[in-house]
Amino acid sequence: MIIVSACLAGMKCAWDGKARSCDKVIQLVKEGKAIPLCPEQLGGLSTPRSPVEQRDKLVVTKDGTNVSLEFNRGAQEVLKLAKLVDCKKAILKSKSPSCGSNLVYDGSFSDKLIKGDGVLAKLLKENGIEVLTEKEI
Ligand code: SF4
Repeated sequence: MIIVSACLAGMKCAWDGKARSCDKVIQLVKEGKAIPLCPEQLGGLSTPRSPVEQRDKLVVTKDGTNVSLEFNRGAQEVLKLAKLVDCKKAILKSKSPSCGSNLVYDGSFSDKLIKGDGVLAKLLKENGIEVLTEKEI
């Protein structure tokens, strides 16, 4: 079973209340091969919500509110489900502070990308789950 970012499966769960639909991911869900989850919603954040970036090992909104607790809680909830279904692979939304893999925004809210993983992507990798973005499938 594959875990996928819910926004890629067409759920309107992104920070702006919109989806980030990806046809290939939607097809995987239709075929029963993938489970869509949104770690930020599972962590207790509302939708829509303020955009967030990682900065100095924290996760903060543009006005400086620390939402690290919600991000970590949501990532742990996804990991819990990944273990329940013996997930070995995840397809997550690129560049997100939760779901991004290998490339994330730098914390300056100026569209600059740096090497790094989102909170969920990092946790899944640490637990032996392969993480791909929608651009890599
Ligand atoms: Fe999509 Fe992940 Fe952001 Fe949720 S946390 S909206 S699944 S990129």
